[in-house]
Amino acid sequence: MGSASMRFGFGKVAQDGAARAGVIRTPRGEIRTPAFMPVGTAATVKAMLPESVAATGADILLGNTYHLMLRPGAERVARLGGLHRFMNWQRPILTDSGGFQVMSLAGLRKLTEEGVTFRSHIDGSKHHLTPERSMEIQALLGSDIVMCFDECPALPASDKAVAESMRLSMRWAARSKEAFGDRPGHALFGIMQGGVTRALREESAEALKEIGFDGYAVGGLAVGEGQEAMFGVLDYAPGSLPEDRPRYLMGVGKPDDIVGAVKRGIDMMDCVLPSRSGRTGQVFTRHGVVNIKNARHQDDPRPLDEDCTCPACCGYSRAYLHHVFRAGEMISGMLLTWHNLHYFQQIMAEMRAAIVEGRFTEWEAGFHAGRAQGDIEPL
Ligand SMILES: [Zn+2]
Repeated sequence: MGSASMRFGFGKVAQDGAARAGVIRTPRGEIRTPAFMPVGTAATVKAMLPESVAATGADILLGNTYHLMLRPGAERVARLGGLHRFMNWQRPILTDSGGFQVMSLAGLRKLTEEGVTFRSHIDGSKHHLTPERSMEIQALLGSDIVMCFDECPALPASDKAVAESMRLSMRWAARSKEAFGDRPGHALFGIMQGGVTRALREESAEALKEIGFDGYAVGGLAVGEGQEAMFGVLDYAPGSLPEDRPRYLMGVGKPDDIVGAVKRGIDMMDCVLPSRSGRTGQVFTRHGVVNIKNARHQDDPRPLDEDCTCPACCGYSRAYLHHVFRAGEMISGMLLTWHNLHYFQQIMAEMRAAIVEGRFTEWEAGFHAGRAQGDIEPL
């Protein structure tokens, strides 16, 4: 742990259009923004050593409160020195609140004003999660960036249902802030809700600003509304949040979602896509998507991407990666996950440089052109 007196902070370095480049300062190190956060659901980014995740350029990763509270348990992680020590990752960690995963347990949960009662997907045991308990769990884990406990309604939903859900989330945001208390060096982020309805999004932004947070997330997107509707919300939502605080788009996304979100003023994102796809043989490159299981790769001596400097591209052919995937060898998931995470971080680094140099629009055109020329394969 760094100096207890060091506080959390965000500084904008440059802006190009709505796209921002900046730095989030924490006692565990700086997070360069726009930032992509790999997901370490169960205290591991699957198939990756922590030092490998760091080598891809990640400054921060995300842990899931829901999974960690059930197994191994937040109190156990705290007794073992906290999540950073437990999983051997010393850079910043953001934890979600558990709300999103609990809400997706349709039929296994009961929602009240107080919170949510649910049954574990692992052993059926009964648990209760409230804003107060979520803050307690995230403190036990030792998270650097704590997320408010919120509700995300399943779409499609009526405007009335989305409004009621959003207002409950805003009451829970106030309770989360109260329970979080004063923890120097740790940050609490509020989460904007309101579906795809502008008036509700703006009402949510006002409610969160009234409470006051270290950062602000845009929640309730990338839940099946489609990219066009998501970008429609992002055309105005970031601008309704404080200029001097980081803005985090939760659960996004594909490379073109990420680029479109940064273009609209988002600073942070997380997604399981690069790591999950790495295990299913789907590879993201600057020329598009490669499905390594396809027979067309079995005699191909070329790397996944000639310009990529990751271990998978420096040491191995498509033919080899095809072979180990088909043979079910563990190195397949390891190499493809490394490549995907490296590629996502490469996009972030290129965008940060482009924003600083005032050429984001040109960079974005090149990004789309490269993908259009490439060997994009059907998903
Ligand atoms: Zn690579």
